[in-house]
Amino acid sequence: MSSEWCQNKKCPEKKTQGQIRGKKGAKYYQSNKANWYGYWCSMGCREQWFNDNKDVCIQAVGLIDKQVLPLDDAWYVEYRYDWREEERNRYHLVNKLKGVDQSITQQQAQTPEQIANNHNWYTINDTQAKELAVTLGLAS
Ligand SMILES: [Zn+2]
Repeated sequence: MSSEWCQNKKCPEKKTQGQIRGKKGAKYYQSNKANWYGYWCSMGCREQWFNDNKDVCIQAVGLIDKQVLPLDDAWYVEYRYDWREEERNRYHLVNKLKGVDQSITQQQAQTPEQIANNHNWYTINDTQAKELAVTLGLAS
């Protein structure tokens, strides 16, 4: 779903040159087109809309209780850029809850696609990180 026009009611109050329409003597400001996430013209309008509607949004989605991420699911892979370190020491398999911070290879840290695209700072997702931890005998 998306909208043609910015959903912020106060969008015309921005009074920008590009919002002017109408003939001389009957000019007016109009909303911008929506091109920001499909509903707003800008981050500012999205912010305004959210401030006006946050309670309705929360009611629609439903409030949730406290969420927890347990120890065994707390794995992630991190790329740390440090010019003093060699390239091979830049990838780490981390689980702070277990006190693990282990250097891993680029082949372990990235998917073949990420390596092929030379996106050095991209890494495998957290589910894959957990699988890697199991493979390396750090988790079960
Ligand atoms: Zn707007």
